[in-house]
Amino acid sequence: MECTCCGACCVAPDIAALDKPLGLRCPHLGADNLCTVYDRRPQVCRDYAADEVCRRIEAPTLEERVHNYLALFQLTAEAQAVRESGCASMRMARAIRERK
Ligand code: SF4
Ligand code: SF4
Repeated sequence: MECTCCGACCVAPDIAALDKPLGLRCPHLGADNLCTVYDRRPQVCRDYAADEVCRRIEAPTLEERVHNYLALFQLTAEAQAVRESGCASMRMARAIRERK
């Protein structure tokens, strides 16, 4: 599967190397949904390649693709909790969740 540069993998998953919580845009993702730090992006981003997941989450909008990704991995409720916590840090979001 070829990458369509849809941006979903820069929004949906949490990324420890960037302390990016689940379901929130990476701060380095530009308005055009392309990486603004492409040449110095972390290794985890370099290693990520388009695969079957990209096909399974296909949808007309980025929002829908992110929704589909979270649903596919049964992370919808967790992402909702992160949004509600207003937490921009993955580690802090996890700590808050573990305290509950
Ligand atoms: S989700 Fe898949 S198709 Fe979209 S940018 Fe990431 S690798 Fe490319
Ligand atoms: S650093 Fe770039 S490639 Fe990595 S998640 Fe952020 S926007 Fe995407």
